[in-house]
Amino acid sequence: MKMKAISVVWLARTDLSNLNSGQGSGNLTELKTYDHGRKPYVSGQAVRRALFDTIARAYDNRFLCVAEKPCCDVANCWGCDLRGFLAPKSGEGSDRRWSPLKVAPALGQIPAEIVTDLLTRMSIFEKEDSSTKDNRIAHVQLMENIFRLALVLDLENIGRMLEPVKEENGKGKNKEEAFKGWQVTVDVGSAERKERIKAVLDGIYNLNGFAKQARAAASLAPEVALLTVQPVYNQRGLRALELNDKGEVDLKQLAWTLDEHKALGYQDFFGYTPGVVSNEAELLALLQQKEIEAQPVYAAFEQVKALVAAADL
Ligand SMILES: [Zn+2]
Repeated sequence: MKMKAISVVWLARTDLSNLNSGQGSGNLTELKTYDHGRKPYVSGQAVRRALFDTIARAYDNRFLCVAEKPCCDVANCWGCDLRGFLAPKSGEGSDRRWSPLKVAPALGQIPAEIVTDLLTRMSIFEKEDSSTKDNRIAHVQLMENIFRLALVLDLENIGRMLEPVKEENGKGKNKEEAFKGWQVTVDVGSAERKERIKAVLDGIYNLNGFAKQARAAASLAPEVALLTVQPVYNQRGLRALELNDKGEVDLKQLAWTLDEHKALGYQDFFGYTPGVVSNEAELLALLQQKEIEAQPVYAAFEQVKALVAAADL
């Protein structure tokens, strides 16, 4: 099967945490919420950032720059290849690249209470004057939840860069640029491309490194995951594994997604950890009925990695 995309949808439990905060007033670190403040979320941007940080920790010598100052060297820099960039053009080479990794926001699935935690700082008794009182104490909003995350990897465009070929017609004022098709300007080759794909899959499996987590141990690494290997690139199916307020997976939707994948020749792999979703028995029964094995999360990732290794990429 020609492999064009891998999509991963997953659930991750967190204890009381604040994985992505907005600017609150004063010393309050506000939690980002949706659904009328009942559920927390983490922006797609923050998830991407945590993912690239996780990958960079494992492969620090392959990331040649930081996102804020891209080196634009797609052939050699995993950061610029995977993150994409928009940079002022200097000399040869390209100045923009779409990321081959599309990431949805992490959406908390369960309505829960916001808990406000008090953080006291070291300097608390240093100054007695009341004008500095505000600086002594900080509040941070926390929420416990199960997050649903989703991303798609555009396999063909990892380590590969296409650019339009233009031809200039006419002279002076009448000069026009005509589009003449596309040319490949960077192609790192199959072995290197596969190494980058494997690094991304490992990064998802090990996902951590969110802001505000300097001390806390919360991560959004997958505990229940549906991995799909696709012969075509699209962003369908990313809504699988939605939970209702009671923490039950929407089985109708999951069954629909699995049936569609089967009809289209996609391959599904299911990674599983007990105790995450409330309708566990029904979920496992559905998977059995659809002939999809519920295996440990690492095993599902290993299977997809083995397919990548054997694929024509
Ligand atoms: Zn770079």
